[in-house]
Amino acid sequence: MTLRTENLIGTSYSAEGSNTFQSFNPITNTPNPWMFTSATSQEAAIATQKAAEAFKIYQQTSLIDRARFLRCIAKNINTLGDQLFETYCQESGLPLGRAKGECQRTLGQLEGFAKALDAGQFLEPVIDTADPNRSPMPKPDIRKLNQPIGPILVFGASNFPLAYSTAGGDTASALACGCPVIVKAHPMHAGTGALVAGAILKAVEECQMPDGVFSNLNSNNFELGQQLITDPLIKGVGFTGSIAGGTALYRLAQNRTEPIPVFAEMGSVNPVIVLPSALEHATKWATSYADSISLGSGQFCTNPGLIFCIEHPQLDQFLHKLAEEFRSVEDTSMLHPSIHKSYQEGKAAVAATADLMSTSNSTSDLAFAGKSALYIVDAKKFKEHPGLHQEVFGPMSLVVRCASIDELIPLIYTLEGQLTGTILGSTEELSKEIAVIEAVKNRVGRLIFNGVPTGVEVCPAMHHGGPFPASTDARFTAVGIQSMKRWLRPIAYQNWPNELLPEALKDDNPMGLVRIVNNNWSNV
Ligand code: NAP
Repeated sequence: MTLRTENLIGTSYSAEGSNTFQSFNPITNTPNPWMFTSATSQEAAIATQKAAEAFKIYQQTSLIDRARFLRCIAKNINTLGDQLFETYCQESGLPLGRAKGECQRTLGQLEGFAKALDAGQFLEPVIDTADPNRSPMPKPDIRKLNQPIGPILVFGASNFPLAYSTAGGDTASALACGCPVIVKAHPMHAGTGALVAGAILKAVEECQMPDGVFSNLNSNNFELGQQLITDPLIKGVGFTGSIAGGTALYRLAQNRTEPIPVFAEMGSVNPVIVLPSALEHATKWATSYADSISLGSGQFCTNPGLIFCIEHPQLDQFLHKLAEEFRSVEDTSMLHPSIHKSYQEGKAAVAATADLMSTSNSTSDLAFAGKSALYIVDAKKFKEHPGLHQEVFGPMSLVVRCASIDELIPLIYTLEGQLTGTILGSTEELSKEIAVIEAVKNRVGRLIFNGVPTGVEVCPAMHHGGPFPASTDARFTAVGIQSMKRWLRPIAYQNWPNELLPEALKDDNPMGLVRIVNNNWSNV
């Protein structure tokens, strides 16, 4: 497929602007060959108008047609094959295996949402039938189901060029709901995005979806995103990135005449609590954590950035082993010079207060190597320096040495909201430390026992979100089919004629859904 450097606006390509930019290859330390043209404000306005028009048609498409559309997108992405993988690697510096794995995850997500459409349960139909004889007032017939909220703006994530970008989880979930999508492509991987956008365009044509159901706009500055988020025709936003970026966009959306939901998945340090009983398996945990922290140069939102330990005769053995494992980590390239620079600055800020325990001995000639580093600090200093609580995006973790569980618990309560919290130890010891469980539960969206937080399973029970600033709305997940709830709103029909009700609410249940009827689950 030809890699198009223009903006995709519905079914047309357009490059009216004069601002151009290139993505960057961090391995060769050179710009990539493609010259992208940033979308102008007029092009952005055309994209939102087309999306609003498309919404009128697209929201009425059948669940069968939408599932076919998602499967067609997956098929077309799959067809891109090596061209997609090569572009991904050139723009991210990530290895081929990661490109292939992330592509499989992206295709799996599209299939997952297609299956959710096959099942139809996301409509969540609820029926309360009329009771004309109720005293003192007759009871009306009320029936409720979910419907799409309108055009969604998706910001591509720098660290997931496929699974959380152009056709990633935010886009796939919104399209599944019946919402058109405008992607503000991440400039670091605009080429990968352009190829995937081409695959979506092909699916739009093959499935005869309306012009404007999908657009992909380029830019390397904030203006385009800010214009789009304040456009009255945009009705919701999906974002993965920095706390500063997500918070700025959230505030813009809340200050609109019509505020809209912004589901921003931002920073997290993913605290890990090492109970003394876990030290019996010091070698196993040291190896697992060195791997988890350095995986993908630590550029994951679930990277474990804080390790709380409690004084114990075996603690030094664990820390010694962890330090040793860090020394043997092989450096890998970070995604981009600016992310590498932020990482260096973040480490320097931690080093001003904490002691360096260990760093990798790897001697690569990578220009933007993410050098793994392990720091240590005592609980008192950690408490006095809230800056140590902040995410440093990269392969780094800070060990906090606590004298006792009693010193640990108040520290957990001082942490900001987190995507995950992990506890290592025996079931027996954990069952005696209910206060630790409660403290961690209070701060996180996912509790992990005896594992690592990296590697987010895509399944309906997954919750990938957490109290602010992990995400802007802790009630919703960005991963799994439940993420569709972000783009849906309930609508209730009162005393509506049966033949004019949506299929999911009709008396004879033609879709065969499981519904709540007069307070009872029912499949008839
Ligand atoms: P970012 O700076 O937050 O940018 C993400 C996207 O949002 C980009 O498209 C950017 O626009 C846009 N944006 C950011 N601030 C904006 C603003 N004030 N107004 C309008 N648009 C705005 O994140 P990034 O580029 O992905 O990476 C930078 C840092 O983000 C990393 O060093 C890391 O700290 C953090 N990060 C965290 C996670 C996580 O999951 N926790 C994931 C990825 C990155 P432009 O494209 O025009 O710049």
